[in-house]
Amino acid sequence: MTNLLIHNANLLSFQEGYNANGNDAIAINGNTIEAIGTYEELKSLIQPETQVIDAGGKTLMPGFNDSHIHIWKVGNLKTFMLDVRGVKSKDELVQLIKDYHQKNPHLQWITARGFNEAAWQEKSMPTKDDLDKASIEKPIYLIRTCAHIAVCNSKALEMAGIDHTTVSPVGGTIQLGADGKPTGILNETALGLVTNKIPPYSIEDLKIMIRACREEMYQYGITAATDPAVDPLLIKAYKEMDVAGELGFRLNALPIILPDGSNDAYPIPKPYSSDFMQINTVKFFADGGLSGKTSALKKHYKNSTEQGVLRLNKDRYTQLSRQCMEKGLGVATHAIGDAAIEMVIDVYQDLCKDFPSVIKRIEHLGLPEKKHLESMAANNIACSMQTIFLSELGKNFIQYLDDDYLNQCYPVQSVLQQDILMALSSDAPVVKNFNPLKGISAAITRSTNEGEVIAPEESISMAAALKAYTISAATIGGETRFGSLQNGQLADFILLDKNPLTTALNEITQIKVLKTFVDGKEVWSRGL
Ligand SMILES: [Zn+2]
Repeated sequence: MTNLLIHNANLLSFQEGYNANGNDAIAINGNTIEAIGTYEELKSLIQPETQVIDAGGKTLMPGFNDSHIHIWKVGNLKTFMLDVRGVKSKDELVQLIKDYHQKNPHLQWITARGFNEAAWQEKSMPTKDDLDKASIEKPIYLIRTCAHIAVCNSKALEMAGIDHTTVSPVGGTIQLGADGKPTGILNETALGLVTNKIPPYSIEDLKIMIRACREEMYQYGITAATDPAVDPLLIKAYKEMDVAGELGFRLNALPIILPDGSNDAYPIPKPYSSDFMQINTVKFFADGGLSGKTSALKKHYKNSTEQGVLRLNKDRYTQLSRQCMEKGLGVATHAIGDAAIEMVIDVYQDLCKDFPSVIKRIEHLGLPEKKHLESMAANNIACSMQTIFLSELGKNFIQYLDDDYLNQCYPVQSVLQQDILMALSSDAPVVKNFNPLKGISAAITRSTNEGEVIAPEESISMAAALKAYTISAATIGGETRFGSLQNGQLADFILLDKNPLTTALNEITQIKVLKTFVDGKEVWSRGL
């Protein structure tokens, strides 16, 4: 039976060859799109129990799909962890941690995340000496916005057993000061030395975080998401929610194979598939982040000899990827710098001979060269990119990258010109506001929040950006069941107050989601 019929809607969808053809109505039967047509054509489906909504000419489109968002971490910053993303100076940071410590005396560890020193007056990283001002008796673990760098106070270093004699693990650094002692700053795999000592969250804690993030996703019209780094405990939390029927969005979970701070790989997970959850791709990290200068570059960062960090041993990475592909799993690899991208493409190219159709994705693809894009196209390698970084982190890019790198930064137009499957995403909580319309706006304007424009010739159209946030994001996750308005698709869609295709560029981010539907049910409404 048709349980919902929406008419008088501007229907948008972004699959190849889509045309609304004057249709204004959509009928939902259970969790599925039953029919699309004109109201005249569909009104015979209306029965006494059918809910009928006049959309008043508003836009109805598939729900957004954020193909790279750390769901539990977003939720963690709303629940168990101190959010320091708005902080403007070291003093403010120390004060905030002090206050938090006072308000939460029961905590065994103080964990905080989100500082970005490029946005501070001082422009320099905090160290253990700064954090010691907040507390010397409680361990403090502070993560930079990029999640590839962290700062510890003296107590945390002591509890992790890190001193001037500790050797940095492969793929990471324990930074030493002029006095030969650790400064408290760690990067990449060295973070694991400390995170191993922090009491793990319980499954119930993780579920609280997931629900907290989901609430915000619904407000932005996000009905599907990929969590791009899940460990065995988080997989368990997600699966329990899935089995209990309470996940509430389409989840693609990418299990990590090589955890930080350990030489042992996790066991290769079994593929998993239900209506709401997929495990079909695993995750590796080839380098770090651009905004903190840990992405692996062939040349070097601006006014510096630093080249970032290559985190993966190529042979081990190839061998583990092969094992995953033999079990039917795809591989997604974080790669931002040109050196990291080149290494990943090399490995994928090799694996493509034996596993041509298995999912091969590059996460971020910050600084690819033209030849990289050509071999991605030739070897069926897809990518999930974050144009939202241009607006939110563009200031860091300008500070840390020479012009020739800036001009190839997140080159989405060049990627599309090569016919590479490209999804867009937020990588939240790396960015605070993960509204897809912000990423879409930045994909078109290429503008930083401060108004500088980065590589304007890499601008893409609104339709291309919407496609990358809907159907392409589903496709890159191996999904064909949702992501477009078509008969038989799962009914995950949103109602917008304005048509993005005809909205002025400077008003795109003000477009409001009015209602969000998942699985044929309204899960969120702006209450107008
Ligand atoms: Zn990420």
